[in-house]
Amino acid sequence: CGIVAYVGPKDAAPILLEGLQRLEYRGYDSAGVVVSSKGLKVRKVKGRVADLAKAMPARFKGGLGIGHTRWATHGVPSDVNAHPHLSSDERIAVVHNGIIENADELRAKLAADGVVFVSETDTEVLAHLIARTVQETESLEEAVRKALKSVVGTYGIAVIDAERSGEVVVARNGSPIVLGIGEKEMFAASDVSALVRYTRQVVHLEDGELAVIKADGFHTFASDARETAKEPLTVDWDA
Ligand code: GLU
Repeated sequence: CGIVAYVGPKDAAPILLEGLQRLEYRGYDSAGVVVSSKGLKVRKVKGRVADLAKAMPARFKGGLGIGHTRWATHGVPSDVNAHPHLSSDERIAVVHNGIIENADELRAKLAADGVVFVSETDTEVLAHLIARTVQETESLEEAVRKALKSVVGTYGIAVIDAERSGEVVVARNGSPIVLGIGEKEMFAASDVSALVRYTRQVVHLEDGELAVIKADGFHTFASDARETAKEPLTVDWDA
């Protein structure tokens, strides 16, 4: 339902929670965040963003993270089914808006290959697919692009890799993703309202596009891996 991502010099967690709160008007049944600093740290709960904030430990440091509010489509609202979803080796974390239509088929294939699923969601297949692909690719961007080739359905996603802790990869197909450009920090979200407190400079992704955000900027790519040139827009409404 709602996505927020941050990479920069500040602690990601408070920024993610604030952004998720701004997306509350869309409705949701659970919320979660993951922050990367020497491994992935996850908190996710069934309930409100306020419940998630209460469940956060005092020390939840790290300048890279992604957050989600979920509107369940596959699997009941629960702590386990809340996003982010992690690969079995806890290297890859994914948040996802939308519906993976061939999730059952992908799940059966991965399970036959020995993957153990912990949730009932369609989203979890993405974490496992990307984790397998990233073993053979030079970049997280390439792994996400290749993994998405076997996926049928709608998605806005944000992905982090514990072993590449300077970047977030986002992609969209039928579910919006917008980048926010800050001063030596970058944001991404499913809706510009999660960003306007931090920046007015935004870039909207098109369906089929993928982006890598780092503290010092961003790159966008078409589904054939060619880099695309995007002009930032200035948002002129009040937060
Ligand atoms: N299909 C996913 C799920 O049920 C994502 C739903 C959403 O857009 O929040 O977990």
